[in-house]
Amino acid sequence: MFKLKFKLNKYYLLAHALPLSDLPFPAWENLQNKLWEEFPKAYYLLTTHPEIAFIGKQPLKELSETCTQVKKMMRKAFVSKEFKRLYKESKIYLHFLQKQWENSGNEALDILEDLSGLSLPNKDITVFITHPKLYRGFALPVYNIIGFGYAEDYKNSSTINLCHEILHLMTRNTRVMHALIELLTNNELRIQLNKNGKYFVFQESDGAKDSPLHAYVSRMRKLEKEILPFWKDYLQNKNGRDLVDLEREINKKIKR
Ligand SMILES: [Zn+2]
Repeated sequence: MFKLKFKLNKYYLLAHALPLSDLPFPAWENLQNKLWEEFPKAYYLLTTHPEIAFIGKQPLKELSETCTQVKKMMRKAFVSKEFKRLYKESKIYLHFLQKQWENSGNEALDILEDLSGLSLPNKDITVFITHPKLYRGFALPVYNIIGFGYAEDYKNSSTINLCHEILHLMTRNTRVMHALIELLTNNELRIQLNKNGKYFVFQESDGAKDSPLHAYVSRMRKLEKEILPFWKDYLQNKNGRDLVDLEREINKKIKR
């Protein structure tokens, strides 16, 4: 049976949050600077310049020494007040996410299967939680994992963004497929699940706060509008096609 298992792993959380210039909260930068000053090679290995581990005369020996430094650096990070805050806020978010998924996950998955024409994989997927302010979601099909941390921007947005990543697990990664996933989850599924809303307007119709568009959504917007007629036509009449067939069809029809 398809199942999401939510997990908060402190090593994963730290390694995920350390390299990012988007901060979970302003004070996070203090920890980044402190660790960089004390463990420069280990810091670079985990963040922006892994090549620094290989600049010495005996690169592989130094690499294993740097890995020892990585462990020390992580231990130091774990006892910092910045990491404790990151962990605590991520844990609160984990509970929130679990609860929302329990409430709306099944309904959302039914809609996802109906719209995509694809069956959910018969396996457990582990969702590694990151801090919600990091706005990151990604899927790694080889490992059956999803990495996930999004602030709740509109009603059920976490459930909807999880469905987005689930579809990535089930399909191959192309620009057209990504645009189709956004049309399916962030638009059609959102409207069906919340029983209101419009395409490309990420805002609650009951007057709740405006939601910032995610950067990736804006980047994909042009392509989504270009393929919208194909998507709308598919919704009207699937003719036995599924999302994978539709992607193949669109790729042939539009000029790249
Ligand atoms: Zn995506």
